Amino acid sequence: MIRIETHRLKLKYTWRIARGFADTKDVVILEIFRDGISGYGEAAPNTRYGESVELTCQRLESCRSILSSHDLFEFETLKAIIDQKISDQSCAKAAIDMAVLDWVGKKLSIPVFRLWGIDPSTAPQTSFSIGIDGPEMIRKKVREASDFPLLKIKVGTVQDEEIIAAVRDVTDKTLRVDANEGWTDREEALRKIEWLATCGVEYVEQPMPAGRLDDIAWLRERSPLPLVADEDVKVAADIPALAGIYDGINIKLMKSGGLLEGLRMVHTARACGLKIMLGCMLESSLGITAAAHLAPLVDWADLDSHLLTTNDPYVGMTVKQGFMTLPAGTGLGVVSAK
Ligand code: MG
Repeated sequence: MIRIETHRLKLKYTWRIARGFADTKDVVILEIFRDGISGYGEAAPNTRYGESVELTCQRLESCRSILSSHDLFEFETLKAIIDQKISDQSCAKAAIDMAVLDWVGKKLSIPVFRLWGIDPSTAPQTSFSIGIDGPEMIRKKVREASDFPLLKIKVGTVQDEEIIAAVRDVTDKTLRVDANEGWTDREEALRKIEWLATCGVEYVEQPMPAGRLDDIAWLRERSPLPLVADEDVKVAADIPALAGIYDGINIKLMKSGGLLEGLRMVHTARACGLKIMLGCMLESSLGITAAAHLAPLVDWADLDSHLLTTNDPYVGMTVKQGFMTLPAGTGLGVVSAK
């Protein structure tokens, strides 16, 4: 039995980044039920990548028969088939990958991290993200994030200076900064990065629009801070072209199409001498817990969006002082919040 269901995540605060804002986030939950076992996966469609709930559901529907009949233990073979069937809506592929691995782990009665040979206690601490807002709200959000040792600050608009000043009113914690393609001129980007380097910032994510690799190469020659590709990279095949241009890449399951491709990205990035960040879209604990399975293999973790919601339908990975603890249960270890 295959079940496809949408869920509207409510956000605690309006989530604002350089290119838009949201008060809610619609996600699609996939359940694969076989042999008395349910495997669950989540798709968080992102308009930046031409994704929608409607198209995601269509792509999942198109895989209904293969997911009902294929040997789920042959998950590599299944991935190749799904990659052929779905050429857009990578978030739909992520939901399938998660549900299959969750099912396989449960069928074997082991956590997926055991199946993968990963020690979850070696993961780096996660940052907590602060969206674009007025100075008063920024100060309030930073105070509320007191438990987190690392903050990721969204920038990329005319408010940048005001936002960083508001953060620094409240804390001297290490900051990471994400411009979300917001700086369109490389001279402007360099000025911003040189200034951020004086503000206790560790690295800058996607300073300029995706595809501007000549500008990024120019910027990196001059930048005092490491530059991390996010919108410029989705899957492993995108990575070699970024070597020597960026310092690192940001892996997200919704871009890669799941954990199997995420693992390929880890190995490809390492082979190319790149640092690795692990991020997320606005997702529930289901997608975030799945992503956390890759965290021991990366340098920087940014897995916090489940903490930005007020109606998370799942319970999974927990965070204390930035340290992530994966659930001990079988499969992905995620259970219903009800
Ligand atoms: Mg980003």
